[in-house]
Amino acid sequence: MLDEAIDKLYSKVLKRNPAEPEFHQAVKEVLASLRAMGDRHPEYADARIVSQMCEPERQIIFRVPWIDDNGVIQINRGFRVEFNSALGPYKGGLRFHPSVNLGIIKFLGFEQIFKNSLTGLPIGGGKGGSDFDPRGKSDDEVMRFCQSFMIELYRYIGEYSDVPAGDIGVGSREIGYLFGQFKRITNRYESGALTGKGLTWGGSLVRTEATGYGAAIFANEMLKSKNTSLDGTTVSVSGSGNVAIYAIEKVHQLGGKAVTASDSSGYVYDKQGIDLELLKDIKLNRRGRIGEYVETRTSARFVPNNCPWDVPVDVALPCATQNELLGSDAKKLIKNGVQAVAEGANMPCNEEAVEAFQNSEVLYGPGKAANAGGVATSALEMQQNAQRDSWSFDYTEERLTQIMQNIHRRCLETAEEYGHPGDYVMGANIAGFRKVADAMLAFGVV
Ligand code: NDP
Repeated sequence: MLDEAIDKLYSKVLKRNPAEPEFHQAVKEVLASLRAMGDRHPEYADARIVSQMCEPERQIIFRVPWIDDNGVIQINRGFRVEFNSALGPYKGGLRFHPSVNLGIIKFLGFEQIFKNSLTGLPIGGGKGGSDFDPRGKSDDEVMRFCQSFMIELYRYIGEYSDVPAGDIGVGSREIGYLFGQFKRITNRYESGALTGKGLTWGGSLVRTEATGYGAAIFANEMLKSKNTSLDGTTVSVSGSGNVAIYAIEKVHQLGGKAVTASDSSGYVYDKQGIDLELLKDIKLNRRGRIGEYVETRTSARFVPNNCPWDVPVDVALPCATQNELLGSDAKKLIKNGVQAVAEGANMPCNEEAVEAFQNSEVLYGPGKAANAGGVATSALEMQQNAQRDSWSFDYTEERLTQIMQNIHRRCLETAEEYGHPGDYVMGANIAGFRKVADAMLAFGVV
């Protein structure tokens, strides 16, 4: 697309979607990559494909009333943004976090279009969630909230239409309550309507581990392209939720040493390497805070109210949330000799940070490529549900590894093809875009 057309479109996106900075940030990055296509694809411009892609196919906002343990009525807001179904049913997680608003869900849904395309699997892009905060709530409160959320959401989801999964604040407990209510309302055991299910009721082995494993595998592939690997490296990881825990596990399996983990209260630095069993016990069993780690591990120190980017490492894996790694953090990592950064979270590095990494020739893998392992394994869960089958851990992990290696290869090949060798952002955006754009062209104006 030509530069003037892109500038005009971006101005229009800003005007039509006011006060949604995260959505603007995500669109801006993709549009910047599409500039590199120049006038090579007039067919996309003629059909106004990019303009269509920036407008969600459907946005649903709804009230979620529920009663807390004190008998008080609480009101939250629910969202589902069905962004693009050119390649398959809308697919993307649900996020329960007090920071959730329409702009956040739109940024996540927009990113999901390209990410899902990159997996090579038949899934469109969507995202949803609520400003509900599961932290500090009892299981009963979480259940009542999930049931109320599903009373509205069930109308829009299904195996062939829209398939939600987990994200921040939505793990196996929440998916269980959501699926139970969906089954009850619809009177159908439609396993393919939600992913991230428990292993005894339609879930897939490796889905829990997939996003974190995939991010570490992607980092390893980036390093392998420079004839090195994760083996023997020191790695900083942010977050201590689903993605972070399994990123640490895979880093250790590949011979690296993850030395940090964090949550919104601060980070721990354990120079001997994070004790994963202890971390899992604190976070998965006890739903505790990261500071508890140093009560058991004397080799570790806790740094409150901070992210782990001042720790000298070879590789950084931001796995917590958007815009958690700023330009100033990137400069610290670069100064300390970081070689590679792979995003386990969605858009954790802000624009200045990405620019700093790319200008310093640090290998930088954007989330829509590096964290695609989660949604890819969700699509594998859907395949198993459709076959009424369940695959072994080893087979499913092998499929995940192949998918991550393919994504890595496609990013590099596409970046090269469009004149930006080694630029994973460019490669991911253009490769993801073209597949969706070609399908949209085939469908005509719909
Ligand atoms: P979890 O809820 O399991 O964990 C989130 C972690 O990030 C927690 O440690 C949390 O700390 C921390 N965190 C969240 N918000 C903030 C904040 N504002 N500041 C500092 N720390 C914060 O979520 P996931 O691990 O599933 O998701 C993490 C990231 O990965 C998100 O960006 C998500 O979109 C992305 N992702 C997840 C996928 C998945 O399969 N789960 C798939 C692809 C991407 P605290 O508990 O203190 O809030």
